[in-house]
Amino acid sequence: MRRMSATEAPSPRCHHCGAHVQPTIHTRDGYRVGFYELYTGAVEEVTHSDELDGPITFQRLVRPEYLVTCADCYRRPEVREEREKLFYTERS
Ligand SMILES: [Zn+2]
Repeated sequence: MRRMSATEAPSPRCHHCGAHVQPTIHTRDGYRVGFYELYTGAVEEVTHSDELDGPITFQRLVRPEYLVTCADCYRRPEVREEREKLFYTERS
């Protein structure tokens, strides 16, 4: 998931290299992405019984993790791998 940052907020740091990241810059011809945000974490499966619809199973976020990756680090394969692992913690 990606969301816009407020411009007044202090610039966050990259989780991987520690650099302050810049917001995405929009130009007349396009845009340049400054950083990527990942909001994820460990989940647990919860089953809720509903008399009308029957049991519903869903995944509840139990340990949220917030990860900032600068555009440079995002190009590194090992960083991509780390982000992928975080995104699929429920499968590990
Ligand atoms: Zn970085």
